[in-house]
Amino acid sequence: MLLNTPIENIPLTSSATKRRLKSIGINNFWELLNYFPFRYENYSLISPIDRLQVGEIATIKGKILKVSNAFTKKGFNLQKISISDSSGKIDVNWFNQSYLLRILREGMSLSVAGEVKFFGNTKSFEPREYEILSDENLNQQFIHTARIIPVYSEKNGLSSRLLREKIFRLIMHLNVSRTQDSIPEILPPEIISFNNLPKEIDAYKQIHFPTNLENARKSRERLAFDELFTIQLSAQIVRKEWENEHVGNAFVVDKEKYDLFQRFISNLPFKLTSAQKRVVNEILLDLKQSKPMNRFLEGDVGSGKTVVAAIACYLTYLNGYQSLFMAPTEILANQHFQTLSSLFPTSGVGNTVLKPIETLPSVGLQTGSKKIGTSMQRPLQKRTSDDFDIIVGTHALITKKLKFDRVGLVIVDEQHRFGVVQRAQLKEKGINPHLLTMTATPIPRTVALTIFGELDLSVIDEMPKGRLQVKTFLVPKEKRKSGYEWIKKKIKEEKIQVFIICPLIEESEVETMKTIKAVTKEFERLKKDIFSEFKLGLLHGKVKTKEKEKIMQDFKDKKLDILVATSVVEVGIDIANATIIMIEGAERFGLAQLHQLRGRVGRGDKQSYCLLYTENANEKITERLQLFTRTQNGMQVAEHDLKLRGPGEIFGARQHGYLDLKVASLSDFELIDKSKKAVNYFFSKYSVSNFPEINNRLEEYKTKQISRD
Ligand code: ADP
Ligand code: MG
Repeated sequence: MLLNTPIENIPLTSSATKRRLKSIGINNFWELLNYFPFRYENYSLISPIDRLQVGEIATIKGKILKVSNAFTKKGFNLQKISISDSSGKIDVNWFNQSYLLRILREGMSLSVAGEVKFFGNTKSFEPREYEILSDENLNQQFIHTARIIPVYSEKNGLSSRLLREKIFRLIMHLNVSRTQDSIPEILPPEIISFNNLPKEIDAYKQIHFPTNLENARKSRERLAFDELFTIQLSAQIVRKEWENEHVGNAFVVDKEKYDLFQRFISNLPFKLTSAQKRVVNEILLDLKQSKPMNRFLEGDVGSGKTVVAAIACYLTYLNGYQSLFMAPTEILANQHFQTLSSLFPTSGVGNTVLKPIETLPSVGLQTGSKKIGTSMQRPLQKRTSDDFDIIVGTHALITKKLKFDRVGLVIVDEQHRFGVVQRAQLKEKGINPHLLTMTATPIPRTVALTIFGELDLSVIDEMPKGRLQVKTFLVPKEKRKSGYEWIKKKIKEEKIQVFIICPLIEESEVETMKTIKAVTKEFERLKKDIFSEFKLGLLHGKVKTKEKEKIMQDFKDKKLDILVATSVVEVGIDIANATIIMIEGAERFGLAQLHQLRGRVGRGDKQSYCLLYTENANEKITERLQLFTRTQNGMQVAEHDLKLRGPGEIFGARQHGYLDLKVASLSDFELIDKSKKAVNYFFSKYSVSNFPEINNRLEEYKTKQISRD
């Protein structure tokens, strides 16, 4: 099929561009077609030059009368191009784009989209996009002007303009090829008509080059429907497969074990909250089944998920099995190792939060930099993984060539959706354990149940008593300075530490060079002008892993007072001494994401603070942020978020590995519900094996999940 054509074969494209396309995961025509724009610019108003109104955004078409290069008083380099059509003429002013002098020449026909502005006293045109028209024919196909144009997220040196051009040519090519199935339909016709969806082929064309914005919306809805349909269908299939799985041996919880288990719980240094108790019970019931547990545990940062997981590990231990405890980073693995070591101290050694009762499981750490059990925490004669009852590590634990013989439980903390593939990897190692996946991302129950349909859901919706709430303030613009002074005083007097979070600059969800430049500049400014007496660290997505871990470690070791970071950086580490988080450009974050960030502080027993800064005093924004300052519960925050932000907006949790939806939005309950019904209908009436296109999508979805791991 045409769409399987490798990207190497794309015509009129340099090898550098091909390489760049591949570097962002575009390996064939299909993947190029699936690179969707994140917004549009409307340049469809085509205006005669003499009708242009100041403030208007329009496209003009005309002949270049004159090309000149000038310098403004302020030293800007100006490319002034005078254009005329049959109605009149106007100057188009580009700034600092001297390469245009080599491209644009007198006599050429040009189409320019931009804004009409005053330049000094003269009406002139501020260009945004242009394209040269082939000779006299002003009616050719327009790509960058004279229509609604797509704007693509710019990655690895690929400009939106270049992507637009390549995708446009591809769609032209598909049109010419004219085969009915150049973009095949995947759904049965009755599902399409029942849900009032456009055809697949039209959706793909119109999401890139819509004839109007309503069509763009409908196309996006169609492709979002496809996405939700695929995810849910995949979940249903996994759930069905899961029903037929068997663990080696179901756990036994007889009187003796139950007593030990209860004693362990009552020996904890605190009383479990009723939410924790409920979840422990749900897990207990699962573990007694011969079908492996596949449970998803949601709970706010600090709600006490780790203890619940530890209790499950203990029960596993009582049954003679090992537990694997996986964290997303080495630092977090270390942290879990320490927590678990203090919950399960070996007799005489280690922390004595708990008096040793009977025997307790031994805890080992296995990360890239630390071999099993070489931690300083305990004198270890033990060397191999098999000698430990609980093995803590990163997700590499299951991919590494480690052999585990008696694993009964796998715990996955954050960022990892444990799928069919991971399960297969475990099976290759000869195990089919119970599975507990945990997240602090507040995902509303309805959403979680649909999107993670293969999992059973538990929620810890209650915080331990006596926890100090993080005091949250929206800091007015005029108080910025006194805010800095207050932070300085806090650091000096209380020796606390501070996070400063800078937002992503552009609307795309990746960290662009622009963002990195901005955060670096802000870091320099803070270091030089504001916090010169303190030690500052900088973290963003382009910092190498090793360096990143060192900076985090320095922060943990109090070698740094302030950590400046972008939101994409994993700062999930427990730093009890960090009690202030300052968030710049707070309006750019979803509430759920703000809540995640706020969870970085408030981990110790000192009062913590979250300061929100925004340059945008828009009433709606202020209201939304004020609401956040008053809401502490993550689930409530997430629900507000869903209500307040329309579909299509970035959902705070999206950056988490769990939910990287391409087009669909989790706040679009209606579409989620429709697609869920469609999946149920499809399941009752058809078999996936008769739908090769759906099968392809399922495979594609699975591969995407693997490649993310
Ligand atoms: P998270 O859900 O973010 O993983 P943790 O399990 O790390 O939360 O718990 C955060 C802190 O709260 C830990 O220091 C833990 O010992 C403590 N904790 C957990 N449960 C309770 C409880 N029921 N009462 C008091 N403190 C608790
Ligand atoms: Mg945790």
